[in-house]
Amino acid sequence: MKERKLRKNDILLIGILLVISGLLFFFAYIAKDPGGSVTISIDGLEIMELPLKDDIRIELSSEHGLEEGHRNLLHIKDGKAYIDEANCPDKVCIDRGEVCYEGETIVCLPHKLTVTVTEGEKQEIDGVSE
Ligand SMILES: [Zn+2]
Repeated sequence: MKERKLRKNDILLIGILLVISGLLFFFAYIAKDPGGSVTISIDGLEIMELPLKDDIRIELSSEHGLEEGHRNLLHIKDGKAYIDEANCPDKVCIDRGEVCYEGETIVCLPHKLTVTVTEGEKQEIDGVSE
């Protein structure tokens, strides 16, 4: 009887440990490195880098290297970047939603546009350029 009780407790303990390790894994997964800036590329060509700390709305158009008539409205707010509006046929870039962690990308295939979150400029370099 005693042995059986112990086993039951062991199973309970293992269960608790599994839940804890699962939670730890979950938090480790979501606690990725937030990026410092986004790099915008059109047709594989880097056209600009924008800091995520700013509140920016920028309309990307032929002026930035997109094909005539193509438009993507990029919005940066609260350290996150997302495509607000676009006149591409699939709207995948809008559906992608917000990106804020290093390595995350928004891709607009029809417009050959990519927005990639990067580590970004260090604060002091940013201060000098301003
Ligand atoms: Zn798109």
